[in-house]
Amino acid sequence: MSEKTQAEILKEELFYAPDHASYLCDEAEIAQADDFCEGYKDFLDTCKTEREAAAYVTALARNEGYVPFDAKASYMAGDKVYYLNRSKALILCTFGTESLENGVKIVASHIDSPRLDLKPNPLYEDSELAFFKTHYYGGIKKYQWTAIPLSLHGVICRRDGSSVTVNLGEDEGDPQFVVTDLLPHLDRKQASKPLEEAIAGENLNILVGSRPFGTDKGSEMVKLNIMKLLNEKYGITEADFLSAELEIVPAFKARDIGFDRSMIGSYGHDDRVCAYPSVMAEFAVKNPKYTTVTVITDKEETGSDGNTGLQSAYLKHFIADIAKTQGLCGRDVLRASECLSADVNAGFDPTYPSVHDKLNAAFINKGIVVTKYTGSRGKGGTSDANAEYMAKIRNIFDSGKVAWQTGELGKVDEGGGGTVAKYVANLGVEVVDVGVPVLSMHAPFEVVSKLDVYMAYKGFRAFLEQ
Ligand code: MN
Ligand code: MN
Repeated sequence: MSEKTQAEILKEELFYAPDHASYLCDEAEIAQADDFCEGYKDFLDTCKTEREAAAYVTALARNEGYVPFDAKASYMAGDKVYYLNRSKALILCTFGTESLENGVKIVASHIDSPRLDLKPNPLYEDSELAFFKTHYYGGIKKYQWTAIPLSLHGVICRRDGSSVTVNLGEDEGDPQFVVTDLLPHLDRKQASKPLEEAIAGENLNILVGSRPFGTDKGSEMVKLNIMKLLNEKYGITEADFLSAELEIVPAFKARDIGFDRSMIGSYGHDDRVCAYPSVMAEFAVKNPKYTTVTVITDKEETGSDGNTGLQSAYLKHFIADIAKTQGLCGRDVLRASECLSADVNAGFDPTYPSVHDKLNAAFINKGIVVTKYTGSRGKGGTSDANAEYMAKIRNIFDSGKVAWQTGELGKVDEGGGGTVAKYVANLGVEVVDVGVPVLSMHAPFEVVSKLDVYMAYKGFRAFLEQ
């Protein structure tokens, strides 16, 4: 073994230079990380929508001994409760040994992902083909959604209050759906448009059928045949679409990427790649000192508005309600509380280096990204984490041997974005963004590193166990 030079020793001591996470792990831990990701891949395949994720995690939580929160009950250290908000957002909570006066530790991620929602009156026929009209949800690059296999997920509520769950296109043998695109032979006009305009939002129509009802000649016979099939399968009529939430998502399964299987390709890493590790960390923490509050929320991708998004009062009210069980005021608990806003960040892509400042970019495999502030241009719309709190989080991660790095979402003036951090910060809570770096973020098939997924789990757990 060669001795380190004085310069090398000094560099190690003085420079910030995050390593590949594998240098921080022994072989056993790398195997553990790979194993952890098998559970994550199942989660990705089973939970493609916020409703599916909320239902799946609620069932897991019940198995772990979580019971529905009762504002009139009293709780002891180690008690586990959950609060399900309209089947789309969920709070898990484990009471700590410390009084709530000393605050709670919150990890907040989201379980909605960019997708195509069906319009309220979606079904039509044109040229003896039946289609669904869609309205895209979240920031998508529309051209990425044509000519790929799609599946249909959601719920249809009938007028009498009964409802039916839909999940079609995932199981082997299920039919799937597709948005058609022009052939290159005839796309001269389309191909000369800017990428953003090449595919119009109004053209993201889902092909759903092509055979007419019976042999009767008439108009809309293909649509009639589809409606008849839907009536037989789901017991619905066309008006029931109005009271439905049907979401079109990529039908791909999560797969290992690369000869070394070091990465995972999947739909919906943003933000299940933070939601799953946060839930697993919450479950792993049995008797925390501080009460833990793990939130998997809805509507982040559209700005967190609405009563299942984090701009609404549901988290604030939950904290007020648990405070009341100890004779405390919600605002006193919030003031003493800390949060990790758990969301993905852009991973540096060597094919597109120009959008990043390499010194402040996040790299896949270098662990979780601690993002001091988000926003765009002059930090517009940002929650900028306080230096004191950044120091504390660094210390927690270093002490817990969690691989972490700093990262900004791209160059100044290049664009920008935000997460739920500012809505939690607005409650008076200390908060910083922490999450997994992603390649091809918001694409139908995003890529993450397995070691980073595992580091998210380790990091959230270290935070909740402080
Ligand atoms: Mn996100
Ligand atoms: Mn997103």
